[in-house]
Amino acid sequence: MATTSLVQRLARTELLAMTPYQSARRIGGSGDIWLNANESPFTNNEPAYNRYPEFQPIELIENYARYAKLDQTQVLASRGADEAIELLIRTFCVPGKDQITICTPTYGMYAISAATCNVGVNTVPLTKEWQLDPQLTDKLHDSKMVFICNPNNPTGSTLTPAQIEPIVAKLEQQCLVVVDEAYIEFSPQLTMASLIEKYDNLVVLRTLSKAFGLAGLRCGFMLSNNEVINLVKKVIAPYPIPAPVGDIAAQALSLGGVQKMSAQVAQLNKLAEQFSRRLSTLAGVETIYHSGANFILVRFNDSTWFQALGDEGIVVRNQNQVKTLENCLRFSIGNELEMNRLGDTLAKISKRKAA
Ligand SMILES: *Cc1c(COP(=O)(O)O)cnc(C)c1O
Repeated sequence: MATTSLVQRLARTELLAMTPYQSARRIGGSGDIWLNANESPFTNNEPAYNRYPEFQPIELIENYARYAKLDQTQVLASRGADEAIELLIRTFCVPGKDQITICTPTYGMYAISAATCNVGVNTVPLTKEWQLDPQLTDKLHDSKMVFICNPNNPTGSTLTPAQIEPIVAKLEQQCLVVVDEAYIEFSPQLTMASLIEKYDNLVVLRTLSKAFGLAGLRCGFMLSNNEVINLVKKVIAPYPIPAPVGDIAAQALSLGGVQKMSAQVAQLNKLAEQFSRRLSTLAGVETIYHSGANFILVRFNDSTWFQALGDEGIVVRNQNQVKTLENCLRFSIGNELEMNRLGDTLAKISKRKAA
């Protein structure tokens, strides 16, 4: 008798037997006249866009696999990490029946994506130090997947692979562990990607929106074993990566592109450190949370700082409405000029309040 794998047990059963939509590009073929996709023969642009793009642009997948030190079969490109989140939920969760687990405060889209799919959300709050609940694995209530954001948005807090791996191991026969590494380039030593080979239930999410400076491009990646990737390929749209996106993303992931990104990350990490040192001298700043990402979460003595900054033309992310983040603001790390003006303005507000 064939044994069923974890992924087969967790997936929506209707997907297992389903044949994915056979788009013209997927069926492929060889020849010099292509009349199989109802495309126009006219090229109205340079470069030409009259042909549908590859399902998963080969150069893009090659480059990301090289960058992530994985096999190409372990990489799926998507319309941002946001699409990857939704695809995972749609692939594994039965609407009205299944649920996911999130560790709050965390990135808001896990719960939103679940809600739009009528999938339940089980919340296991982080500790005061933004660490995972020590009993997390006992509080999953048959969730199909648990999302762990590392570095975490909006706290900036980090977990080491040594902290996450035992959870993945413990849940190996039970549920997927989705580690959202949208900010991993700012703390590259924390990645779980190298453990994908070892655990069938591990999924890692990545994006070009943050460190690679390509938020406008909408390109992200799901990294996992081939079984998960192939299942998600049944759910994703037929041509998910627009041709110009694939080209620009592949360029960004060339050796030169990765070097450029690393240099920019080093700059931003330095600016973050300087900014956080400056903050620590200001009256009214209660807590500066240590961050492994390109933003810093700060707790102030009251909730008026957001408006005060806004009055000076500086837009930051207010977290005051989030449970346990009262009086907190999240500052993205901008360029040196922007950080200097932000620092000066905060100093001015601080003095004015103290007066
Ligand atoms: C920004 C962000 C995303 C979304 O990334 P896109 O690739 O732009 O969709 C996902 N997860 C976290 C934690 C983020 O901060």
